[in-house]
Amino acid sequence: MRLIIMGPPGAGKGTQAKFIAEHFGIPAISTGDIFRRNVSEGTPLGVEAKRFMDAGEYVPDEVTNKMVRNRIEEDDAGPGFLLDGYPRTLAQVEELDGMIRGTGHQLDAVVVLTVDQDEIVNRLLQRAQVEGRTDDTEDVIRRRQELYTEQTEPLIGVYRDRGLLVEIDGMGEVDEVTRRVFKALDVVPES
Ligand code: AMP
Repeated sequence: MRLIIMGPPGAGKGTQAKFIAEHFGIPAISTGDIFRRNVSEGTPLGVEAKRFMDAGEYVPDEVTNKMVRNRIEEDDAGPGFLLDGYPRTLAQVEELDGMIRGTGHQLDAVVVLTVDQDEIVNRLLQRAQVEGRTDDTEDVIRRRQELYTEQTEPLIGVYRDRGLLVEIDGMGEVDEVTRRVFKALDVVPES
């Protein structure tokens, strides 16, 4: 199973990604989490990524692509994976196509969580307090949303044209959103 979860910053991708990945027994691969881990460990990748992340900008494609390629070549991703936060640009879509083609598999579905913009800002400001993320200040949040609209939203059309898009209303309780995702993916709930 090879899945992507998309949606604007604060749409709840990470939360839903964990439930979906667990259900299918595949790793949830979050590029943001990998970058943050590298930042906190002070690796060269982390040092490189931090200045972009703190400004709410995208880390350059060549850095991000290489990182994802290495990650999906790991053993646990053999049966599949759920990508959270990648691809974010059209160039990354092409790159991912190549990576998946190389494994002889194909992408199964792209889940998009749709949410209300005001709700997102509130969620992100709350998360900033809880997690202490340095990229959750109001200016940076605005920049990240702008970039999403400019560079990432166009990917929705690409995947819709390929018949892979699964659009989910991301508003409401976490459990409710999970139920919608599973229903759309034809998953029978466990009792
Ligand atoms: P996220 O946790 O997915 O919101 O990602 C946090 C930050 O990591 C983003 O604002 C970017 O700076 C960087 N990042 C994560 N994924 C990507 C990606 N696919 N392309 C470029 N930058 C990324």
